[in-house]
Amino acid sequence: MSGGDNLDFEIRPHPAPVAPAQRTAMLANPGFGQIFTDHMVTIRYADGKGWYDPRVEARAPIPMDPASAVLHYAQEIFEGLKAYTTPDGGVAMFRPDANAARFAASAQRMAMPAVPTGMFLESLRQIIRIDRQWLPQIEDGSLYLRPFAFASEVFLGVRPAREYLYLVIASPAGAYFSGGLKPVTLWVSPDYTRAAPGGTGAAKCGGNYAAGLAAQAEAIEHGCDQVVYLDAVERTYIDELGGMNVFFVLDDGTLVTPPLTGTILPGITRESVIKLAEKAGRRVEERKVSFEEWRTGAASGRIREAFACGTAAVITPIGTVRFPDGEFTVADGDTGPVTGALRQELVDIQRGRAADPFGWVH
Ligand code: PMP
Repeated sequence: MSGGDNLDFEIRPHPAPVAPAQRTAMLANPGFGQIFTDHMVTIRYADGKGWYDPRVEARAPIPMDPASAVLHYAQEIFEGLKAYTTPDGGVAMFRPDANAARFAASAQRMAMPAVPTGMFLESLRQIIRIDRQWLPQIEDGSLYLRPFAFASEVFLGVRPAREYLYLVIASPAGAYFSGGLKPVTLWVSPDYTRAAPGGTGAAKCGGNYAAGLAAQAEAIEHGCDQVVYLDAVERTYIDELGGMNVFFVLDDGTLVTPPLTGTILPGITRESVIKLAEKAGRRVEERKVSFEEWRTGAASGRIREAFACGTAAVITPIGTVRFPDGEFTVADGDTGPVTGALRQELVDIQRGRAADPFGWVH
């Protein structure tokens, strides 16, 4: 078997899954990324053999040799997407094909073998099928799916590994930010940047997030929720947040968002917001926005709203922006009307409560 066309998963159900009463209690208030379902998907890869041995099995620690390449050189990529319960009792995923494409692009950047789209999608269906009882039935509840792959070869040389492991785990989730739809406060780091041209900013690799942790700690120290990164060359233009893309709403209703120049992650929520806004006849500009334009625009009223977007929190208003010399607040620091409407529209499509004009829901 080669090329990853073997979609014949061996299914080994968990011999001792979490008891229903305990699961129900866990799902009442799942938080984010804290609890996990009973199963996982695993698929192996070896050079010359391709992807092989696809399985659904009990979620369990994975034995690792201390010389596994990923532990030393961080050859690792991941994805994140959500499954929702639809009003008719079914389960829907939002744009999983877009996650498959981004996972393949990340693999290419990290010199890893791509997981074929069909295999990626089937792996998601498999985990949902076996663990669908883990979908929380609470407001804003979802099952967060985390596909990832890493270099499992036991070798300390610096070169692309010849063996990989692909897994999918699933984590029931409530609202991402515990405060609900409360505007986030952002920290503009004076020292740290996220990604330089030619680097890995557009790939969803673990190393990008490791590199952001010191900046995130700095943000927390300054009473902020997340970092907003400036470009690494001129330290002038807004790139994105540590885990979300950014949009600005101008006083004439135009949406503005930084362009995909290779230093920011091409967010699926970002692209969905652009498509929905354009379909509604709204003007959307993908262009550079300087920190100065934001600061003065917030003061003059030219920038009426700002929001961050990503799978985990969907769309979240940006309230205060703090930097070493001061801070400013966008409008009155509350959820603006455009932000609120876009969020509602997107959430309703994702959850199967509204028509799906682009065929995004699987
Ligand atoms: N930027 C970064 C750095 C992220 O980690 C994420 C989350 N995947 C996003 C943007 C938003 O991407 P998406 O809308 O696909 O979740």
